[in-house]
Amino acid sequence: RFAYVNGRYLPQDEALIHIEDRGFQFADAIYEVWSVRSGELLDADGHFGRLERSLAELRITNPKSRAGYRLVIAELLRRNRVRDGLVYLQVSRGRARRDHAFPAAQTRPTVVMTAKRLDPAAADRRADHGVAVITRPDQRWARCDIKTVNLLPNVLAKQAAIEAGAAEAWLVDEAGKVTEGSSTNAWILNAEGVLVTRQADHAILHGITRSTIMNRAAALGYRVEERAFSVEEAQTAREAFMTSATTFVTAITSIDGRPVGNGAPGSVAIALREAYLESL
Ligand code: PMP
Repeated sequence: RFAYVNGRYLPQDEALIHIEDRGFQFADAIYEVWSVRSGELLDADGHFGRLERSLAELRITNPKSRAGYRLVIAELLRRNRVRDGLVYLQVSRGRARRDHAFPAAQTRPTVVMTAKRLDPAAADRRADHGVAVITRPDQRWARCDIKTVNLLPNVLAKQAAIEAGAAEAWLVDEAGKVTEGSSTNAWILNAEGVLVTRQADHAILHGITRSTIMNRAAALGYRVEERAFSVEEAQTAREAFMTSATTFVTAITSIDGRPVGNGAPGSVAIALREAYLESL
């Protein structure tokens, strides 16, 4: 496997960054993930737009144009022979002597990009079965809309999910409302047949898949409400599902051990997954 680091393509195991990189020292870095299907990036511009926004929020100078990133991505897909898989991009503020404040002199942002193959059939099989989620307190900071690599609360929540035999942890705010999953956005289809997903405020990452699915759902005639919902509302919903670039739309069949609906993947979740993948 080949990785891209600051202008060079290197075998992944030899690709290194400096120990005083601010991404390593302070998580002073942002990232993006694109899904690749049949050699094409999904929702490419949505992810580029969020990348630019994350950088601007942290006042990191964007080191490349979209065309520049696309050239590197194409080369990584070619060198790694990826037709179906993922592209990962990370941009940090760069290397500087360790000090919390931004370096006085302009640093060169560090750009790291990798690509990996994934078997789409395996992902589809998993979605066919649906997944279990558990809930955990949301212990993150107040700017979850910025896609930073500061992911420790997400890591701990996901680990708790895995140890509980679940696939994802839904994070719950102090008001008892679900914010989102540790690496996915959270949705329900309530008793009235309305799709509900939390409003895109500072408490969640503004998922690119979330916004594509909102549009797709509206086009298919579903009503979509952007508002917070409680764990109880989710457990008594007709359906629950999650969205992300890596899981597309994946049905949730239980929450904290309580089955959602009849405990099988819901038909609306399945229809939205198909609508998303068909539109590629
Ligand atoms: N929320 C969080 C916390 C995430 O890490 C992700 C995945 N990057 C998502 C939601 C889903 O976002 P997207 O649809 O853009 O992949």
